[in-house]
Amino acid sequence: MLKITADTERCVGAGQCVLSDPDVFDQDDEGVVTLLVESPGAEHAENVRQAALICPSQAITVQED
Ligand code: SF4
Repeated sequence: MLKITADTERCVGAGQCVLSDPDVFDQDDEGVVTLLVESPGAEHAENVRQAALICPSQAITVQED
């Protein structure tokens, strides 16, 4: 199972995560990341890992168990 966390304090609003998986990540009016789903299905694993990798502020963590 996937468990996503997004640190809104670190987020710089670059929006890369939303491009990686718009079903999981969104941005609020100020561009700060918001999570649409905290535990997305396995089909999102690759996208959310990519988001964590390319986030310029390392605000996204992905746990898998
Ligand atoms: S990619 Fe990172 S910095 Fe950019 S909006 Fe997403 S969490 Fe924030």
